Amino acid sequence: KTRTRFAPSPTGFIHLGNIRSALYPWAFARATGGDFILRIEDTDLERSTQAAVDVIIEGMRWLGLDYDEGPFYQMQRMDRYKAVLADLHAAGHVYPCYMSVAELDALRERQMAAKEKPRYDGTWRPAPGKTLPPVPAGVQPVLRFKNPQGGSVVWDDKVKGRIEISNDELDDLVIARPDGTPTYNFCVVVDDMDMAITHVIRGDDHVNNTPRQINIFRALGKEPPVYAHLPTVLNEQGEKMSKRNGAKPVTQYAEEGYLPDAMVNYLARLGWSHGDDEIFSRAQFLQWFNLDHLGKSAAQFDEAKLRWVNAQHLKAMADDALAPLVAAVLRKRGITADDRLPLICALFKDRCDTTVALADWAAAFYANITPKPEEKAQHVTEAIKPALALLAEKLGACAWDKVSIAAAIKEVLAAQGLRMPQLAMPVRVLVMGTAQTPSLDAVLALCTREVVISRLNAI
Ligand code: GLU
Repeated sequence: KTRTRFAPSPTGFIHLGNIRSALYPWAFARATGGDFILRIEDTDLERSTQAAVDVIIEGMRWLGLDYDEGPFYQMQRMDRYKAVLADLHAAGHVYPCYMSVAELDALRERQMAAKEKPRYDGTWRPAPGKTLPPVPAGVQPVLRFKNPQGGSVVWDDKVKGRIEISNDELDDLVIARPDGTPTYNFCVVVDDMDMAITHVIRGDDHVNNTPRQINIFRALGKEPPVYAHLPTVLNEQGEKMSKRNGAKPVTQYAEEGYLPDAMVNYLARLGWSHGDDEIFSRAQFLQWFNLDHLGKSAAQFDEAKLRWVNAQHLKAMADDALAPLVAAVLRKRGITADDRLPLICALFKDRCDTTVALADWAAAFYANITPKPEEKAQHVTEAIKPALALLAEKLGACAWDKVSIAAAIKEVLAAQGLRMPQLAMPVRVLVMGTAQTPSLDAVLALCTREVVISRLNAI
């Protein structure tokens, strides 16, 4: 059974670039009948916040990225890490290192001066026949992992292909601080081991950690999982997406009226492809998803494209399914909709790209409107006022359906010698607030008679 995980650090509000690293492992677990696990990597106490955790959980809930286990919190697993560390120590894979910060700095400087890559030189690494320096008094050591010497670490990355790193490039990693707390790479390995993760799908900013993690896995007597390192998501300026350069928290897209399925579609395409398919449902995505078609190059976020994808999903959605989403937006504005809302959605969704845009239209049916002043000045002229008054009169007497309303409009046109636009434009401006609306009879039929007449008379 496949087991994947999303392991965010709650150090900032999760944005689209981050949550794509949840979408793929989730999709892979779902596509293969496996399990998906949420693990919160909160060991950076200075920078981790509960508010950031909340956005992760809320964003995943909104997008429908459900998890089978978790959320686990690394801070709650410290005892487990320490126990595994003790086992590793007992097995001889770990040793104390007493090198002081000043000594480490001096070492680094010597190496830099000699144009060498800075790395720990193994001073405290025990070896047969080797005499270690005298243990300095009163110094709490760090624990270092005895990285294998010679040979190399090789893995077949599902995105990047075969990667081989010589062990000589990897120094002995600090896996516990002087106070005994285990460090990041060690915790990740213990978690991936305990959670029986089969596929680690994560951002390629972690690719340098992977050979170290693989060596720790092997020291623990386990084979590492399969790795897939996803290329970065760039923002519209071509920089790595981050909160600092304006990336929005995922949950903000919910506020802005995006549909979860459209977001899933858009994010899926941001680093994965299924032929030329651009628009697909969640079910299709899960049917198609595999690790073989993950992109190798950085993907660039494009908000206009996201809006377009959202518009396609909006148009394709059943009006009965769309209406409750629009009703929720209206409720936030203090507006209660009614059973006309699915019909309003049907009439307006083609000209909208978000549920918020749709709610802007729907609001005109339920709440007061203010006609756009420049459109009112242009279309609602003195000359047209008698025709508007006559229309109000006819609409006060006709049956209230699209056909009867269209007939009343025709009668006014004939009586006043007008062409349709001359009457339709001012009516639209007065009734809907703007002249850019779908066909007039359809719009009026969805309004109540009282609203239409009072708005026609408000000139
Ligand atoms: N916590 C890491 C991050 O947010 C992810 C680590 C991993 O997936 O192994 O970048």
